Amino acid sequence: MLPSLWCETLPLSSLRSAKSRPSSCCPAHTQDMAQNAGTVTEPSEESQCPEERENHSERQIYLDYNATTPLAEEVVEAVTEALREAWGNPSSCYTAGCKAKQLIDTARANIARMLGGKPEDIIFTSGGTEANNMVFFSAVEYFSRADGKNRAVARSRPHIITSNVEHDSVALPLLHLQSTQRAEVTFVPVSTVTGRVEVDDVIAALRPNTCLVSIMLANNETGVIMPVCELSQRLASVSQDRASQGLPSILLHTDAAQALGKVEVDAEELGVNYLTIVGHKFYGPRIGALYIRDLGHLSPLLPILHGGGQERSFRPGTENTPMIAGLGKAAELVSLHCAAYESHMRSVRDYLEQRLKAVFGDRIRFNSRFPGTERLPNTCNVSLLRPSVLGREWLSQCCHLQASVGAACHSDRGDSPSPVLLSSGVPPEAARGAVRLSVGRETSRHDVDLIVRDLKQGAEKLGAKETREGNV
Ligand code: PLP
Repeated sequence: MLPSLWCETLPLSSLRSAKSRPSSCCPAHTQDMAQNAGTVTEPSEESQCPEERENHSERQIYLDYNATTPLAEEVVEAVTEALREAWGNPSSCYTAGCKAKQLIDTARANIARMLGGKPEDIIFTSGGTEANNMVFFSAVEYFSRADGKNRAVARSRPHIITSNVEHDSVALPLLHLQSTQRAEVTFVPVSTVTGRVEVDDVIAALRPNTCLVSIMLANNETGVIMPVCELSQRLASVSQDRASQGLPSILLHTDAAQALGKVEVDAEELGVNYLTIVGHKFYGPRIGALYIRDLGHLSPLLPILHGGGQERSFRPGTENTPMIAGLGKAAELVSLHCAAYESHMRSVRDYLEQRLKAVFGDRIRFNSRFPGTERLPNTCNVSLLRPSVLGREWLSQCCHLQASVGAACHSDRGDSPSPVLLSSGVPPEAARGAVRLSVGRETSRHDVDLIVRDLKQGAEKLGAKETREGNV
């Protein structure tokens, strides 16, 4: 049922462009597999189309969509059109400038629609890292300036609360603010049972000088979805009590980099003041945006860059029109097809986990399944327990699979286990062996069959090596 919705609603050009995607699949098979959703059938070589059999040996299957995604074909078209037709300075009032301004306005409206916000709530940035930094530096400066504060609070540094599994673009600016003594920061540990940051733990960490809470909407390694909506409701009632004591109200930020395009995100419903948008995680270009709820009234924002008056001076600099147009197109696709994207990814990811379980049994551990916790529909974090190998070693034995052992920005971590997995309660042995498989809009069940065979033969090679070396 869901996959047929997928087939009906998938833009035709997405199917046409399937061969150029990292995870190439036969469009006819996307349909075949859609009809099989929910059932685990034994895959066979015969079930492959001739084109797939032919290319089998050199076929690469990309399962690292949490690291980045390719551009949707419609996005390439929007960027190309803007490069050709909208090269003028958007601040100029002749035709080329007006065309550029019009594209930027359309993109802003599309991004707002994707989030259930208003166009004036959106400020374009270079990416997620900048959007996150903007929120923290702005909050610290605003808090230091704010008048009419309670005397004890006026003497203290701003306090920011976050979790201990955030992306580096959140954790590192906060550590920097802490080490330069411009802010106090509390890193609330996530529960090792649920993998989530618990609302009660955040509330317990509040101080009179707390000005901001920043909790990601979904984790990039485990896919765990954090209780941001519940948190905003609790913070709203806490802020009301604080107002009567002259304490600052608490602003809420969420980094939605991993959630957008995978699950429905409604910023108003979430009740956040700020939300980070990252284009290259949802088939858009490598720029981003920040959503600010009722900018200047409900949610303060101070620029971290100073220059021309673009983006109402909140983020000056001549606008990157082609990339903004592409981001707007990527957002439009999400608004139109998010439900179909989600159900397709969920069906393929669940099939992947069923096949892994059927082939490996208790020799593997799923690291992103936490009881009662929702997770992204595309993420499977898995470790090979026997033979006990590093995730990197397992991947290196695979001929077709392109995946990673965790966040791309930690690729220099060597063989040490992911702190996110350890913090989430994954045993060290399993964390060392973890591989993150994240499926995309066009990953098919045939891709999964090939990958599971690939992982199996990789594990066999490692098992034989272990036996030879007398480790068993
Ligand atoms: N936040 C999360 C959760 C991410 O996964 C990423 C990228 O990996 C970012 C923020 C930062 O995005 P960028 O590197 O594009 O600035």
